Amino acid sequence: MKYDDNNIFAKILRGEIPCKKIYEDDYVLSFHDINPQKKIHALVIPKGKYIDLDDFNAKASDKEIVGLMKGISIVAKKLGISLDIGKGYRTLSNLSEHGGQEVPHLHFHLFGGEKVGRMVE
Ligand code: AMP
Repeated sequence: MKYDDNNIFAKILRGEIPCKKIYEDDYVLSFHDINPQKKIHALVIPKGKYIDLDDFNAKASDKEIVGLMKGISIVAKKLGISLDIGKGYRTLSNLSEHGGQEVPHLHFHLFGGEKVGRMVE
């Protein structure tokens, strides 16, 4: 599958659509989910054009991979849900049809600010 340059997160990265930004560095952009499922629901996306986690792990550089992984923890700290200052959170990434992925640009969800419940409905 080819990366779709017109997906909504690509447009956010290009600044064509606004987002409620939480954090940005050379490797990631993080913003609040437009339709929050929990008290805190953030998204962390890599700046590179990757469709999903498998695509990312196959093609991204080591720096990009480390940047994304560390970015998740940086954002959790900023949101006050990391364990040193908060009570924890859940992160997940949906992959394709069975994973329920809607936006074809890799993203990690961060849910927190309250107990997030069962792992899989
Ligand atoms: P997924 O089903 O894992 O692909 O999740 C896509 C997520 O993107 C959903 O939770 C949507 O609510 C969220 N979303 C879609 N459009 C936007 C947007 N413009 N800004 C922020 N979040 C969005």
